[in-house]
This record gives sequence, C-alpha cells and structure tokens, in this order.
Amino acid sequence: MTEHPGKSAGPAADKGALNPRDFDIFEFARSEREAAGVVRVSQLPRMLNEVPAEAPDRDTAFTWQVAGFVQQELQNDGTEGPQPYLRLAVHGGAWLTCQRCLAPYEQAFNADATFRIVQTEEEAEEFPLDDDEVEVIVGSRHFDLVDLIEEELLLSLPLVPKHEVCPEVHESLASGPDGADGVDSVDDVPEQEIETEERVNPFAALESLKKDGPGSKH
Ligand SMILES: [Zn+2]
Repeated sequence: MTEHPGKSAGPAADKGALNPRDFDIFEFARSEREAAGVVRVSQLPRMLNEVPAEAPDRDTAFTWQVAGFVQQELQNDGTEGPQPYLRLAVHGGAWLTCQRCLAPYEQAFNADATFRIVQTEEEAEEFPLDDDEVEVIVGSRHFDLVDLIEEELLLSLPLVPKHEVCPEVHESLASGPDGADGVDSVDDVPEQEIETEERVNPFAALESLKKDGPGSKH
C-alpha cells in the first residue's frame, strides 16, 4: 500500500460516493468503476407486493455489487470502439408465500447479470436476442440502479414459490371445528323434556284449585 501523508480525504471521497438512484452509467462503465451497497425490500414496491402481510420480517435486505467495464466492439458507425457494460450481482432473501402450505417462508435470491449499455430504445431492439449471457439496457446520465436491482429480483422470483420441505401441520389445527359440533346436539333432548314438564305443572295445579274451590265452602 502506498501512503499519502499529505491527503486527508478518505477513500470514499477519492472515488466520489455513488448515488445508486442517479448516476451517469456511461461514465461509470468507461472509467471501470465499482460500487456496492444494501437495498431493502421497503425500497422496492413491486417486490414488497410479493411479500405476505403475515411474514415475520417484511423488510429484508439485499446486498448488491456493480462493476462497469468496456469491450472493444464494432459500433454503429462501422468503426471499433469501446462498448460500455455493467455487471450486477444481488444477494439476499425475501419472505414469500409457499404455494403448497400457504405459510410464509424465506426465499434466497442470488442474481448475477451482465448488461450491454446502449444509448437508445432503437439500439436495444436491434441487439440480437440469441445471446443468453448478456441483457441489454438503455443507459442514462441519470441512471436508477435500484430500479434495475428490483427488475433482476422480480426476474429471479421462483415460478411456484414453495418451501423445499413444508413444515408438518399440527393435527389439532387440521381437524379443528368440525368434530366439536356433533357432541353438543346430544344434550339438547333432555333439556326440552324438562321444559315441557315445567309448563304442564302450573295448569295441573290450576285445574285442581277450580275443582276443590267451590266444593270446600259449602
Ligand atoms: Zn410450504
């Protein structure tokens, strides 16, 4: 390591801190810069939509690394020139809903992609699609890397999110309220019989008063 006693600025100040929401991606690639950071699910509204409300942690984090580079390639004007590229890696986890048992589970994400950076939408459409290794993005002097990270995560979502092995569902939860109903109805019959007897007795008592009443005075 070379020491620079005269300089007081740290390494971050030397490179210039990257704002991942707004930076010149062409310049970033040409000067072959690198950057890294953390993005949370709460910053990625479309990813957040995939996270169930009952997840133990809805705001998980992803780490990302980007590296810019150029390759000498044939340009539109017919000459060889430096073609800008960006390599992006994203790692982390997010809670999704298991489609087998419907419980939330944590899905790991490991995305690694290389992007050919072009100037316009027209150029992007011209790029041959037979190259699976490289995706094409339209660059900008005000590029939003967080958008690109979210795009990559959405592409990495499993087609059918599910546990590798679903946890066992407890038996008492599986056969819950159905069994209890049948037992209660058995008790209803004796209660009705008691009620009927109580109703009959007052009338019987009244009948015996009517019969006894007049005869006892005279
Ligand atoms: Zn499951």
